[in-house]
Amino acid sequence: AKRLERSSFLFYAPEMNQRLQETLELEEALRQALEQEQFLLLYQPKVNLVTGQICGCEALVRWQHAQRGLISPAQFIPLAEETGLIVPLGDWVLRQACAQTCQWRDAGLQPVPVAVNLSARQFRKGDLTQRLQSILQHSGLAAGELELELTESMIMDNPQQAVQIMHELKQLGLSLSLDDFGTGYSSLNYLRRFPVDNLKIDRSFIRDVATDTSGASVVTSIIQIAHNLGLGAVAEGVETRDQLDFLRRCGCDQLQGYLFSKPLPAEDFAALLREGRSL
Ligand code: C2E
Ligand code: CA
Ligand code: CA
Ligand code: CA
Repeated sequence: AKRLERSSFLFYAPEMNQRLQETLELEEALRQALEQEQFLLLYQPKVNLVTGQICGCEALVRWQHAQRGLISPAQFIPLAEETGLIVPLGDWVLRQACAQTCQWRDAGLQPVPVAVNLSARQFRKGDLTQRLQSILQHSGLAAGELELELTESMIMDNPQQAVQIMHELKQLGLSLSLDDFGTGYSSLNYLRRFPVDNLKIDRSFIRDVATDTSGASVVTSIIQIAHNLGLGAVAEGVETRDQLDFLRRCGCDQLQGYLFSKPLPAEDFAALLREGRSL
């Protein structure tokens, strides 16, 4: 009854009604896009700050829309999450990223681990480890070559259950990163119990390191926390030489950002690997 009341209210509020209509259309389009596999992955290199070599990559999804061109995940991931379509989409991303990495290896390239973003719903769905196991098996990718990026907020929803799931994932042999670190609210007390391998420092902190002393000290502290806990520190969104120099001085382990490369189509990423391009 409550639902009915709400939708009849929407019916009488024209601008809200229009927004609802747009959302419904987008949802339908997303459903079709999934059936027709209108998605593609771009790969952004991660670079080891000591060796300067590419040491991994992050797979980032795009929607190839017939009329609207490439649509960024910010425009459809939230709706996919809300409607549950994120689960089949996320599985597609995982299968595609694993298959692509195997293909690079089969083509004779020195493959690097591939990182995939997991959404909250995917993470909480009960059969996650079984699904991952089957995806790995079908693709032929070793578990050690797959990394999952989780965010603090999806973990802090129910930290105890999350720690349990993370342990299962680690048991499969996967690597785990805590993404957008510093933007959520995980307490240090929990952080110490998370079986993760890397902390990814959010772009918003990296932006200010070369100009703003408080921004710089936040980044220094996160790197220290990571190292004290035996984790790697990864800086995302690195765009300038000054940021790079700062991160080097602080002993940050890996870097990802436009300074080295934007996210690339698979062929272009393969070309970088082939060249052995370094920082
Ligand atoms: P994220 O996981 O924090 O990914 C990093 C984002 O920063 C990417 O945006 C990347 O293109 C962008 N980026 C990388 N280097 C730089 C830089 O130097 N400067 C700037 N300004 N930006 C940089 P993108 O590809 O638009 O993805 C946005 C978000 O969408 C991701 O943020 C992630 O949360 C989500 N996402 C992307 N792919 C997937 C996916 O397959 N599944 C799920 N669940 N989420 C995804
Ligand atoms: Ca990420
Ligand atoms: Ca991130
Ligand atoms: Ca981010």
